[in-house]
Amino acid sequence: MTEILEPAADLDDDSPLALLFAMVDELDTCSEAEQREEAELTAAHHVYNHYGSTLGQALDPDDWSGKVAVTANRLEASATAWLDGGLWLHHTLHISENDGARDVLTLIVPCTCGRGYVDYELANEEDLISLIAGLRRTGGRVSHEGDEDECASIPDPHALTKK
Ligand SMILES: [Zn+2]
Repeated sequence: MTEILEPAADLDDDSPLALLFAMVDELDTCSEAEQREEAELTAAHHVYNHYGSTLGQALDPDDWSGKVAVTANRLEASATAWLDGGLWLHHTLHISENDGARDVLTLIVPCTCGRGYVDYELANEEDLISLIAGLRRTGGRVSHEGDEDECASIPDPHALTKK
């Protein structure tokens, strides 16, 4: 087993290394805050431009909560918006060499069994309206499919936590 060295705790506050540590820490924090903010803005712009009659009016730009990219899992920065009743919107950009950046907006709806969620990638505003119309009849839940103990939905897809 590799021995893990204790961090040098007795650095002089003004030493070059201590200063470098502090700079890197600050850069990290800055870029994370920027990433979150940019993810929130991108999501807000997308719904404003493409869902102007629905989400653009129902959501404030402040409703979006940005998440930093997880490079290890190749996840781009994203933003989620809590809609109430257990429903969420998730927005991210899919980036590929051929298509460049593509907005991906997903409606996340809880299953009636309460064990998981179903993701609906929204194609456009008509798509959203027909989904919402259906959900209005089912109280904002997707009816459970499959066995009683097994849910066809995805358990906790984004490890979402209420802000
Ligand atoms: Zn279920």
